Amino acid sequence: MTARIIDGTALAKGLRAELALDVRRLTALGRRPGLAAVLVGDDPASQSYVRSKGRACEEAGMLSRTVLLPATTPEVELLALIDQLNVDPEIHGILVQLPLPRQIDTERVLLRVSPMKDVDGFHPINVGRLVLGDPKAFRPATPWGIIQMLLREGIETKGAHAVVLGRSTIVGRPLANLLMQDAPGGNATVTVCHSKTRDLPGVTRTADILIAAIGRPEFVTREMVKPGAVVLDVGINRVDDPSKPKGYRLTGDVAFGPVSEVASAITPVPGGVGPMTIAMVLKNTIQAAEMLG
Ligand code: NAP
Repeated sequence: MTARIIDGTALAKGLRAELALDVRRLTALGRRPGLAAVLVGDDPASQSYVRSKGRACEEAGMLSRTVLLPATTPEVELLALIDQLNVDPEIHGILVQLPLPRQIDTERVLLRVSPMKDVDGFHPINVGRLVLGDPKAFRPATPWGIIQMLLREGIETKGAHAVVLGRSTIVGRPLANLLMQDAPGGNATVTVCHSKTRDLPGVTRTADILIAAIGRPEFVTREMVKPGAVVLDVGINRVDDPSKPKGYRLTGDVAFGPVSEVASAITPVPGGVGPMTIAMVLKNTIQAAEMLG
């Protein structure tokens, strides 16, 4: 079998075109959705991510505001900025780029973002709402993008055995919750694996849908995949590659070549799950603008 390659870039483009229509409708009602991204420090990967989000916002017709603060910013200043954004009528979504410098308590900062503007879905109120299946929850962008990808690719989750590799709070846990909900893209029977899982290949081989989010390059081998399974790769890993101009290449958590010989569908890295993530941040900001009214 040779797997169908799921084109996340094309899916995200289609989704962003739909979102642009929502933005136009809301703007005509005087509620142009606005997203503020706050970046503390000058980490190049974070800068590039924040820039991509800003560009995607503008392309969709949304207001985008980026606040860059020096790495030495005291916590009290960041909290004061969040307080301002929480009451700013032009801003519907607030993203605080992680990781934050050491002098800042990340938990205190994430708790300060109004749950109504928490488009990352990291505030405990939104985590709780997600677990309860409340549609008002902001769903974290990467898992929510994976659900959209499954829906848009016509991959049936109802009754399927979905195995999620990884239990992080930003990917594995919320994804497992979304997959088990009684909702479109849900109703799967879900198993979550982590570093203490016994006989991991034995578990992954029972998956109809296998989603890898562990941050280990090409960890999932052909032998770990049931023939015909759908394999989604969340991992983004840098591996040294002297043949590349930058000296490295990006690879996922799945050994793409060998696994695509047994899977029925697979996402590449890059160009798979990644592009959906940014589109879902925009979708959440539109949801916030609709809810804030
Ligand atoms: P994380 O917080 O580091 O969590 C990794 C998870 O994988 C943990 O639950 C860990 O288990 C588990 N794990 C690690 N090694 C394992 C092993 N050998 N066997 C079984 N389980 C193992 O990672 P994350 O933030 O979820 O990110 C995962 C990957 O996705 C990274 O490559 C990241 O760059 C990528 N990512 C991509 C996007 C995107 O938009 N495409 C978004 C977010 C993250 P324990 O809990 O037992 O330690």
